[in-house]
Formats: sequence, structure tokens, C-alpha cells
Amino acid sequence: MNAVVNSSSFPSIAIPKDLPSAERLHAAAQVSRVHFEHLLGFLSYLDSASIAMVRQAWEYADFAHRDQWRSSGDPYITHPIAVTGICANWKLDAPALAAALLHDAMEDCGITKQDLSERFGETVADLVDGLTKLDKLHFNTREESQAESFRKMLLAMAKDVRVILIKLADRTHNMRTMGDMPRSKWGRISSETLEIFAPIAHRLGLNQTYRELQDLAFRHLHPWRYETLDKAIHKSRVRRRDFMQRVQTEVQAAFDRLALPMRLSARENTLFALYQKMVRQHLSFAQVTDVCGFRLIVPRTTDCYTALGILHQLYKPVPGRFKDHIAIAKNNGYQSLHTTLVGPSGVNIEFQLRTESMHIVAEAGVAAHWLYQSSPTAGGQETLNTKWLQSLLDIQTETRDASEFWDNVKVDLFPDSIYVFTPKSKVFSMPRGATALDFAYAIHSNIGHHATGAFINGEPTTLRGELKSGDVVEITTDPDATPHPAWLGFVRTGRARSKIRNYLKTTAHSESAALGEQLLAQALREEGIAQLPQDETAQQALWQALLQPGQTQAEILTDIGLGRSAASLLAQQIAAYLAQQGQRPDALLLTQQRFTQDKSQQTTLVLDGQNQSATHYADCCYPLPGEAVVGYLGHGDGLHIHGCDCAVAQRLRERDPERFIPVEWSEDSAQRLHSAAIALTVQNGKGVLARITQVLADCDVDIRRVDMEDESAQHTTVLRFTVSVHDLQQLEATLRALRRNASVLQGVRVLAP
Ligand code: MN
Repeated sequence: MNAVVNSSSFPSIAIPKDLPSAERLHAAAQVSRVHFEHLLGFLSYLDSASIAMVRQAWEYADFAHRDQWRSSGDPYITHPIAVTGICANWKLDAPALAAALLHDAMEDCGITKQDLSERFGETVADLVDGLTKLDKLHFNTREESQAESFRKMLLAMAKDVRVILIKLADRTHNMRTMGDMPRSKWGRISSETLEIFAPIAHRLGLNQTYRELQDLAFRHLHPWRYETLDKAIHKSRVRRRDFMQRVQTEVQAAFDRLALPMRLSARENTLFALYQKMVRQHLSFAQVTDVCGFRLIVPRTTDCYTALGILHQLYKPVPGRFKDHIAIAKNNGYQSLHTTLVGPSGVNIEFQLRTESMHIVAEAGVAAHWLYQSSPTAGGQETLNTKWLQSLLDIQTETRDASEFWDNVKVDLFPDSIYVFTPKSKVFSMPRGATALDFAYAIHSNIGHHATGAFINGEPTTLRGELKSGDVVEITTDPDATPHPAWLGFVRTGRARSKIRNYLKTTAHSESAALGEQLLAQALREEGIAQLPQDETAQQALWQALLQPGQTQAEILTDIGLGRSAASLLAQQIAAYLAQQGQRPDALLLTQQRFTQDKSQQTTLVLDGQNQSATHYADCCYPLPGEAVVGYLGHGDGLHIHGCDCAVAQRLRERDPERFIPVEWSEDSAQRLHSAAIALTVQNGKGVLARITQVLADCDVDIRRVDMEDESAQHTTVLRFTVSVHDLQQLEATLRALRRNASVLQGVRVLAP
């Protein structure tokens, strides 16, 4: 199969540390050249232009790392060359190999992204930049959940899977050469490899790399345990050699009889896997090495099942150990049949059965994308029924763009989640379809409550903006901003939804209570009481006498504000109570209230923009500042404001007049925005709507909603707009401007019939 490149396959040339500087540099240049020539030997899958690019990258990296040295005493450039060798093993393309050669150049040598982009193009510059950014992320391995989110962050941050592949190659080479590093660093780097990088390799299906990283980390984390296990395995391997040989011969003979071609190889668990099993299941070494394994590779998928039949005839299967990972692939794309058989002399043998293409995916995972691209022989003409691999190949034929490819792969790896970041690189996992507002609530409920908008990757957007994996999201807030009921329409997370609901409920209550208090004050004046007793004990006694058991003052005021109970009734009770206490109504006030016709003397509720959630502006007439209004205290849903002339309000007044209270606009009402409805009769024609919206924009009027009649068979159409304006004056000016437009035949404000 593929030639395996690893660090030990590079020629080892030691350079004495005590050489004079000039000679040392000369020797380093020599080593660099020899290593690069060696690397070229593995690049036969590339065309000459690609090789030229790789060579150019090597020359630039060689220059950048001049006079830099590894702790082993080797010239630094040997590291990027070795990393590139590992990438070449996956048959990555020229930009990826160039980036691998340059992966440490930006960080250590003062080379900028601009330099790279001018020399090698945008792709290489982006890859190196991505790698440099990954290097800057730090984390603490102690916390398990943090390790998980860090892994996810790495995957999400990499816009291009090649960044992750090069990073894994980098880590693999650093682990292979860890012996040269000071021992004090082994622990941290090994735990990081075990907790972060090996799981990423696994997740991406790079099983060979996964196993190697685990073993190298284990070896440096627990050198003594590693060595003991290694020796024990070596012994048992010698012991069972005859046995393995016998199984191999018997299986081979059975397949030969049916003339079914196959490739059989003995498979050993990694030391780390054995160690984990011993620790987890409290087993002795003898117990875990009980099981030995074979891998059997056949030409076609159907052959896997035929082969399974042959094996089950040859040896007795262990019940409950058969798994069909072909029909149901693992989520990293892995496919195989697994079965355990009772072999000669009663020893259990594990078999994995798969096709060549499944084998490539099993070993190389995501990297199979490039392996397939460059080696048409690997898969042959066989039907690939690996769903994931199939889709990899589809994506590859549809697009050669590696970043788009990666986007698709990511969807498969994490189907339900996206990962987004704060500007400070803190990662948040969100469900697919989550919006900027969900993110705001994920950070903190106070950020959510006061959110006004967002920047996604630096671009301004609304709170509705949908997030994608890897987005960097910044929320803009305003202390005066508060949640709006419409927000419930576009949040996806339960957390945001419940926070918004809860906020709206609480404020509706407190605002209703405030409204209730105003209404009570007004009702009290009508009873000739200017104010409640100022003395705290007296007031407490008053409420004590009036409240039902279990009822609070806030509740009773909320009920009044919501229209559930009448302020006048409570005011009468209070008056009666105060009379009992010997306090008489203020005669003058009483007279004024009862007999004056002068409205200004009456207590009037001022619409000052407070109590917004308890106050509703009726959508039959859409009252505006500049016109007279009345307040109707609804049955349990707060105060409704109508225009004085509104037909709906007039009908309500006939039914229950006692629920009407005087209201008026506050001085600054025109500074706020109010809804209004207009209807335009227009001539049908191209661009009419555009012209009208332009007029509205010129009048500084926002459209909240537009409805249109069916215009098919008519010369004219009626357009109904709901717009927001400051006051009646602005609405009338807007209507005049609209009527001046040639396509508008008629323009009127809509009021309830
Ligand atoms: Mn490196």
C-alpha cells in the first residue's frame, strides 16, 4: 500500500553543537537539503507545478528558520520537513504541504500573512494563519468538560480541515521526538495529546494517527508502565506465534477453497488500549491479552458477508459479539463487520472484515478525501456504500474547494450543534439555527435582556441573525433596551425562551401594579381623599384591614391595573375605613371632583411611555399624539387607548361606561414611535410599490407591515400599510406626500368602521 513516511525514515545526520557558527550553519543547510530531497521521494503523486510550489515553500522556510535549532541539536527546518512528510503520507495537496513547511514560520520568524499571501497565494497564507491561531489557544487539561469544548473549538475554529490535519501531523512529530525535550515538559504535552489531539484524530476517523498519538503519550506519561507492558506483550507475541500462524493457514485455506480473494493480517491492540482496558475493568495482563485479532480485507461489500459466513463455519462464533458497522457506519465514517470466534484450543479471536476502501477510511478518516483523490487504484471500481465516504467523494467531484468540503464534513460530525465564539475566544455550543439573541442569552441573561443588535464576524446584523459554526459574535447592548414579545418568535434555545417569558411576565405585573396605583390614586380623589395616610403604621393598618387573607398589596394593585378589579370599589372601602378612623374626606376636593366640568381639574392618566406592557394602543384606530384619546380598562388585560372618535370605543362606552378613564398624551409623546394604518389605492404598474416605499422613506416613516389585494384582474390595487410615525402631524404630511405621487389615486388613514 502507501509508503509510510516517518521521522525515523529521514536520514539522521548529527551536527556537533560545538562547531563554529559558520560551519554549523553550513552543515544545517546540508541537512535541510538532504531531508528535503528525501521528502521529494514521496511526492510522486503531485504534478510538477505542485512540486515547484513545495520546493519554493521549503526554500522560504529554510531561510526563515536559519540558525534555529531543535532541542535535539537538529536544525529546526527538519521539523517542518518531517511534518510535511506525514502530510504527504495522507497525499495532501501542494498548498497543504507548503503550509506544513511554513507552519511555524509566522510565529517564530516575523513573517507576516501578507508576505505569505504574496509569495504563495491566499490559500497557503490562510492555512498558515489558521495554524498560528490554533497555537495561541491555551487551556487547562484538568477539567474534563473544558477539554471537550476545547476539542470542539479546535474543530470549529479551523475553517479548513487541512489546518487540523497539519496540526495533527505537527503534534505527531513533536510526540515522536519528545525524547529530545526536557523531561519536565513530557507530562503536560502528553496529557494534552491524550485529551485533545488523540480524540480529534479519532473523531475525524484518523485511526492510525489516533493510535500512534495515544501510544506516544502513554509512553511519556507513564514510561515505566509502558515498558513493562511492552515487554509482556513481546513475550506473549512470541508465545502465541504458532497459534496465530495456525489460524492464518486455516482461514486462508477456507477462502482458497471458495476462490474468494482476501488479505489477512494479524491485528494487535495498542499498548494504550490494553492499558485502558486493564485499568477500566481491573484486569490482569493475562486476561486482556486473551483476545487476539485479525483483519480481513475483501474486494466487495457483499464479500464481507460471504467472508463472515465462511468464518462462522470454520470457528464457532461467541454469541452477542457480532456487530454490523457496515449497515450502520460509526459517525466518523468507520465501517466493518466485527465478530469474535472461538479459535483452536478455545482462544477467542476477533475478526474485522472490510473492503479496501472501508479500510482506507478506517485508517485515514477525513484524510481519505485526499488519498482517494490521488490514488484511483485504492478503491477500484467497487461500489462505495460507505455513506460518508460516498458523500466525501460527491463533494469532491462537485467542488475542489477544501473549505467547502470541510463545512460538509463538520455537518456530519456534529449534526445538531454549532460552535460560536465571543471576541475573546470563549466557545459556546448552540443548537443549529440559533440566532444572535440566543447567543446573547447564553452569555448572560442581562446581556440578553438589554441586547440591541450584534456583530457577526465584524459585520453588523440584527438579533435575528442566524449563527454558523466558527462565527465570532459580539452583542451590542443598551441599558434602556428591554425584551420584546416578538423575540419569542426567533429564539431557538430553551434558555433564551424562558428568560424572555419570565421577564415579560414580571414586568407586565410590576407595570400593571404601577398603573393600578395611579388608578387608585385617581379613584381616591373622587372620594375626596388627596392621599393615603403618610404615617407608615397607619398605612400598614389600613392595608391590613382591606386585604383578603394571603393577598398582598402588590397583587391587589396589579389586579386593578389589569382591570380585574375596580379601583373605585377599593377607593370606597378605603374611604369607609378612614371615616371609621375619624378621618373625613376633604370637602373642597370632593366638590371639585364631583361638580366641576373643567377637565383639567380631573385626575387624568398621562401616557408617558411608562407601563408599556400594561398599556395597549388599540389597533382599530391606532391613536396618535395630536388627537384626543380615552382609556378603557379591559377585563384583565390592562388599559386600552382609543381615539375619542373611534367607533369601537364608542360601542364599548355604551356597554360599560365605568371602565373608561380620562387619559392624555404626555408632552414628549411625539418623541416616541406609534403605529398607524393607512390605505392607498394605486394604479397597477411596474415599480409602484418601490416608488411608494421611497416616499415613505423620504418622510422618515418605517413600514411595519404591508397587505395587498389580489391585483390580477384589476387596474387598481389597494395597499394597506401599518407604519410607525411620531404623531398625527407626521402621518398627515406623509399622506399628502403620497397623494402627490402619480400612481396613488387615493390615500387615507384607516379607522375602524
Ligand atoms: Mn511545529
